[in-house]
Amino acid sequence: MLLPRPPLLDRTVDPGPAPVAWEETPCPLCGRDEPALVLEAPDPVPGGHGLWFAVVRCEHCGLTYTNPRPTPATIGRFYPPDYRPHRRPRKMVRSRPARPVLARLFGRPCNERRGDLPWPVPGRLLDFGCGGGAFLKRMADRGWQVTGLDASVGAGRAVQEELGLTVLTGSLPHPDLSPCSFDVVTMWQSLEHVHQPLDILREAYRVLVPGGKLVVATPSVESLPFYWFGPDWFGLDLPRHLTHFTPKTLREMLETAGFRVGLQRQLRHGDWLRSSARLAAVRGAGGAWARLLRWKPAAKAVAWACYAAGMSDCMTAVAERPV
Ligand SMILES: [Zn+2]
Repeated sequence: MLLPRPPLLDRTVDPGPAPVAWEETPCPLCGRDEPALVLEAPDPVPGGHGLWFAVVRCEHCGLTYTNPRPTPATIGRFYPPDYRPHRRPRKMVRSRPARPVLARLFGRPCNERRGDLPWPVPGRLLDFGCGGGAFLKRMADRGWQVTGLDASVGAGRAVQEELGLTVLTGSLPHPDLSPCSFDVVTMWQSLEHVHQPLDILREAYRVLVPGGKLVVATPSVESLPFYWFGPDWFGLDLPRHLTHFTPKTLREMLETAGFRVGLQRQLRHGDWLRSSARLAAVRGAGGAWARLLRWKPAAKAVAWACYAAGMSDCMTAVAERPV
């Protein structure tokens, strides 16, 4: 049975202690206002506010984004206290082998999220959207000089107090971050959460040294799991995810911000498939396929198949600020 559906973005509905303010946005990539509706879906968080949200695709450049959306000042109402940006799988996904030319540029294939950045010498690293600080800690232990940046005051304070690492509160640009002050900037499942992703990437470019690297990981809507599950796909996470990238639109946005894009890879997420299947089952959708994918071995096998087909629902890109 489908969830009861209130009117789309009914501004008379008050989902929190104070009204949420809404905004409509032109395309965050090309700036045009030519949206075509892709789908509508509710907030998947248990006990969510019952609102539905629209996902549109720019007819000019193809970028998919959430529109309308809560304003930057009020979107925090949609982050429950125990929200985790994305579940980090116990067994982190493995990387697709690098092509030879890129392997020469970026070193051996690696799993960056585990801390295996493909640059041998530790340097200065900024983790944008550092959350609980697990990645920061890993990199600090490997000799990197790390700085975290997160919109959550509580998360930043916890990382500083419990791990003793430097964490700034806020976003980019940040007054405490100087131009050309980092060798690497990482964005693990954070770029899709920001209202102006192109501005964020331009700021990342500015704080990187020439030759510095940016690593981005984000869900991909050009994926079999999105086609199968649609509004129930785990990677949508409305309304917290504001931009829904494909490999092509992620590359174009990085290039628009001035980066030279190197390696782009698919990542396997069997646990995302299971989460999508569970959500579909709760909503009475998906049928036997969703029931099958709730079974871990099946989800794992199907995640492999998506990966082999080049249609996984998570991806990474490594980009460089040209010298
Ligand atoms: Zn566009």
